Amino acid sequence: ATTLTVGALGACSAERAGGAEETSDGGSETTMVGIAMPTRSLERWNNDGSHLEELLGDAGYETSLQYADNKVDQQITQIQNMVNEGADILVVASIDGTALAPVLQDAADEDVTVIAYDRLINESENVDYYATFDNELVGTLQGEYIVDQLGLDDGEKGPFTLEPFAGSPDDNNAKFFFKGAWDVLSPYVEDGVLEVPSGKAPATVDEWTSIGIQGWESAKAQSEMENRLNSFYEGDDKVDVVLSPNDSLALGIEQALEGAGYEPGKDWPIITGQDADEANVKNMLADKQSMTVWKDTRTLGDQVATMVDQIVAGEEVEVNDTETYDNGMKVVPSYLLEPQVVTKDDVEDVLVGSGFYEASDLGL
Ligand code: BGC
Repeated sequence: ATTLTVGALGACSAERAGGAEETSDGGSETTMVGIAMPTRSLERWNNDGSHLEELLGDAGYETSLQYADNKVDQQITQIQNMVNEGADILVVASIDGTALAPVLQDAADEDVTVIAYDRLINESENVDYYATFDNELVGTLQGEYIVDQLGLDDGEKGPFTLEPFAGSPDDNNAKFFFKGAWDVLSPYVEDGVLEVPSGKAPATVDEWTSIGIQGWESAKAQSEMENRLNSFYEGDDKVDVVLSPNDSLALGIEQALEGAGYEPGKDWPIITGQDADEANVKNMLADKQSMTVWKDTRTLGDQVATMVDQIVAGEEVEVNDTETYDNGMKVVPSYLLEPQVVTKDDVEDVLVGSGFYEASDLGL
């Protein structure tokens, strides 16, 4: 792949522009897009990767899709290889948002355009665009759901017991999820309407990493929840609400609840999630999870494919937020998509109706 000569593709951008670039001698070469995903261990990233690979492949781009097993060094090596192999554009869902600056400098030296995918990459000038869902809104929706279900706006005084969790400390998104939720919930904690028996309530939003679950691992969330239940809930004490930032954590927490003898429909707490992972949707249907914040990853892939087309065509890249995502070196122009709450009642209409799942995937 060589430096792009723009123009030839500009005219056809209404459709997917296609991966051919014109070279300076009039020939054409295929644009290569490197796609770096964090891990196969979570369902969503498999969907994200395969959808993007298919979209870009159909449009005529050459792609290289790599998964890094949640290992930062492995991801750096993969990105380095993409640059060495002549990638023109990189789409990166980072593992550690602060670890990629050196390799992105190498990419910039080769004129590679970098799109941060879903998670912002920090401390680097060389992040051109960011496409994601509105991360803070994800947390706001979780917090508001809890307030609504408990009737706190209607003057319900509780007190209710709450156990809050946060995501992986190295993931830039995790802070936004927690902030969104905590801005809604913390006034009730301060008033004593919500009590946190474990004491694991950060004094300020900035202290969220103290309750972060490294690597977003279900097993770590499970053992943390088991510890809290064993140490702080005795006899008839029950947890009423669990703030879980996503589905992988929710799954572990739900296992801990099950192990401690909680029963769906009886004393099972309100528990939040995010992603609409298959196992969690099944748990919603079984009354073991109250809601999930669904991010239709297909729309994120579509948006990124549009960005790639616009970059290749030399057009202005469409963004809708130029204020929020300061990565420490610059405010990265971003395109934010809207997440949506899904409960048991919406599974059929929203998740099956949109084709995100087949009814049979969910045992419906
Ligand atoms: C993503 C979530 C996901 C989490 C764990 C976050 O950065 O935005 O959708 O649940 O990572 O992989």
